Amino acid sequence: MITLEAAQKVRLILGDQLNATHSWFRTKDLNILYLIAELHQEARYTRHHVQKACAFFQAMHNFADALVKAGHRVCYLTLDETAEFQDLPHLIAHIIDRTGATLFEYQQPDEYRLSQQLLQFSTTQPVKTLCVASEHFFLEHRDFSTYCKAKKAVRMESFYRKMRLRFDVLMEGENPIGGKWNYDTSNREPLTPSDLDDIPQPLLFASDVSAILTRLKRHNIETIGHPNNRIVWPTTRTQARELLSHFCQFCLPNFGRFQDAMTQDSEYAWSLYHSRISFSLNTKMLSPRQVIDAAIDAFKSSSGNIDIAQIEGFVRQILGWREYVRAMYWINMPDYRSRNQLKAVRTLPDWFWTANTRMNCLHKSIEQSLQFAYAHHIQRLMITGNFSLLAGIDPDQVDDWYLGIYIDAIEWVELPNTRGMSQFADGGWIASKPYAASGNYIHKMSDYCGSCYYNVKIKTGNNACPFNLLYWGFIDRHLATFEKNPRMSFPVKNWLKRSPQDRLVIRQQADSLLENLDEL
Ligand code: FAD
Ligand code: SF4
Repeated sequence: MITLEAAQKVRLILGDQLNATHSWFRTKDLNILYLIAELHQEARYTRHHVQKACAFFQAMHNFADALVKAGHRVCYLTLDETAEFQDLPHLIAHIIDRTGATLFEYQQPDEYRLSQQLLQFSTTQPVKTLCVASEHFFLEHRDFSTYCKAKKAVRMESFYRKMRLRFDVLMEGENPIGGKWNYDTSNREPLTPSDLDDIPQPLLFASDVSAILTRLKRHNIETIGHPNNRIVWPTTRTQARELLSHFCQFCLPNFGRFQDAMTQDSEYAWSLYHSRISFSLNTKMLSPRQVIDAAIDAFKSSSGNIDIAQIEGFVRQILGWREYVRAMYWINMPDYRSRNQLKAVRTLPDWFWTANTRMNCLHKSIEQSLQFAYAHHIQRLMITGNFSLLAGIDPDQVDDWYLGIYIDAIEWVELPNTRGMSQFADGGWIASKPYAASGNYIHKMSDYCGSCYYNVKIKTGNNACPFNLLYWGFIDRHLATFEKNPRMSFPVKNWLKRSPQDRLVIRQQADSLLENLDEL
């Protein structure tokens, strides 16, 4: 039983709604009770990385403290106190009952699942309920249908140009600053040995989460990944701002240039020139406008140290990709969640949970994910994602893995990236062609292959890089689909140019790998 003093209004703040600049907080009113709760349903709806669960709860707790310091009335409930409630609606109903509140307010959730749950709750409650905007993103829900159509391909590039124009970002009137909309072709440099010493040391924090770890254990919350009493992720607004400044100063000058690069030969291989602000953004400790403004200010005051390709590459991620995947998610839910255009049904190999594979690129990317709850974009897309795509893994299982393991994983951003961009399970709504590649690509963009059990130069046989065999096996399996896609004509022609005997050998060896994925 939770004891509470009377309140007129209860306002719910979800774990990813830590937006201190929300208009809710402009006035202080002790008749309003803010409810922030460590929920069992959220801790259990997927198997989260233990550091992700800790980072969310710690950030929520810090946010509650900051609200109290600012003079607001907050009810913070830990897993201990919420254990008796079946789910979120039961908890809210209890709090309303205890406080005698006549009004319940919540911010529009970013996840469809929670949005539906709260919508349904509001229709069954005797008290008045109000859903307000989260005041975080550039686009409002009402804008989505202007930019995207349900079940239709929408290209990020055209979306992004419209966003640049509408929000006047990196523009000179109607034209993009620098004369080009997109400097993607300058964003594809691998790191050479002489670049490795220059990789900036990441800014890490050390918040003590031992009490949260104990709670997770006490309530038998199943998690994945390596626990750590001190987590490196920012859990306050001040820390999030520090991380952003650190990025602008040390990483932005080379962000675009090495955006797609991967290495194992540096202590800082896991972070490179990436911002690692996705957790701060997705929990709303930082706003996308604030991030873009800070990066553009750094660009303008850098006396040429940050060139247009770097700043454009970064703005494209936040104003382009992030807003775009959110629009695609909402316009296509709930159907998106069950799309499986390539009819992929295979089981995710066990080593995705342990990193125990002889394929060095996968070993390194997964090991790093288990250690830090983080991998950068190209590891997610072209290593773990590419492998799952080529191996025909059931997208439900792929989604589940990505949703659990990454510090920034929330369904609205995880699902379109995984099911759409990476697994092509939407049949091309997001990507005009599958992000599929053989070992050549990984060899070009990383130094993983040099110390691999397999040989990237070998195309068939026992030591052949599995990506080489799986790639052509994938093209062959989906030949009828890919023959209709003009963007796939190059690999399709190359495959058909091979002798029937060659194709047979590759097909048989690829099939044999598929039957023994756990052994790779
Ligand atoms: P940086 O490389 O520094 O990029 C800056 C910011 O741009 C990111 O913080 C992020 O907010 C935004 N951004 C970049 N690419 C994307 C994108 N494709 N979609 C949305 N935002 C983008 N991102 C998540 O936030 N949550 C996820 O659950 C998630 N799952 C992914 C799953 C797959 C299969 C793939 C291929 C990508 C996924 N991404 C996800 C996108 C991207 O990989 C991460 O945003 C990024 O790696 C986070 O690290 P960072 O902050 O260092 O990003
Ligand atoms: Fe990965 Fe193949 Fe290179 Fe090994 S040889 S690291 S499996 S791409």
